Amino acid sequence: MAPMLLPLLLAASAAHASSPRKRSTTDPTQLSGKTFDFVVVGGGTAGLALAGRLAEWTNITVAVIEAGGDGTDVRDQITVPGMSYLNGLTKTAYDWAYSTTPQPNAGGNPLSWPRGKVLGGSSAINGGFWCRGSQPEYDAWNTLQNGATGAEDWGWTRMQASIKKAETFTPMNDADAARSRCSTSPTHTGRTGRASARSSL
Ligand SMILES: Cc1cc2nc3c(=O)[nH]c(=O)nc-3n(C[C@H](O)[C@H](O)[C@H](O)COP(=O)(O)OP(=O)(O)OC[C@H]3O[C@@H](n4cnc5c(N)ncnc54)[C@H](O)[C@@H]3O)c2cc1C
Repeated sequence: MAPMLLPLLLAASAAHASSPRKRSTTDPTQLSGKTFDFVVVGGGTAGLALAGRLAEWTNITVAVIEAGGDGTDVRDQITVPGMSYLNGLTKTAYDWAYSTTPQPNAGGNPLSWPRGKVLGGSSAINGGFWCRGSQPEYDAWNTLQNGATGAEDWGWTRMQASIKKAETFTPMNDADAARSRCSTSPTHTGRTGRASARSSL
């Protein structure tokens, strides 16, 4: 069995909450004998967002353990939006390359089910489209939790606030906005988040 690469991100004792110290390695022995306040298994979309938020606390150490490589050898395919669709990482060593179980409603066939196996996870091999669901969809998440504590966090109001916080949205021009009937208003879209999003027709 091929040895697993273990890129490790450390965010240690941040002097300033917004700029934690980070270090990465593919040498698993670097973890030996070390303890961390939090260990996040899986350096994908959710894992890195969680680790990043945890690392904003001061005096907190966070380790992220990722099964895939760190992706530096395919940096352009990861960082250039949409590149993965033109020059993709699916069906390569950066893809777990799952297939679904053959099912009658899929013509009895298995289907390809790519998932990223690299730091960044499926975000590193995806199309980079910045999508959000509709109000009824997020409110359905809320309803599905049958009034459990915190269920309201999954509804539209809280989710929209978090989406706005995450994004810096660059609107399309007014003519295209009118044609597409898209709202580009700061009421609905964020302007100061870390994720750069732009709309186009
Ligand atoms: C080809 C493709 C195109 C897509 N296009 C878009 C798009 O344009 N826009 C959009 O919004 N969404 C898109 N998506 C969906 C989106 O990328 C995923 O929904 C999202 O990235 C999932 O995040 P996640 O954190 O749940 O999992 P992932 O990001 O997949 O992260 C899981 C991580 O855990 C690691 N891991 C798994 N097991 C272990 C283990 N035992 N030990 C250590 N690490 C482990 C994996 O290697 C991976 O890095 C696309 C997905 C794919 C595959």
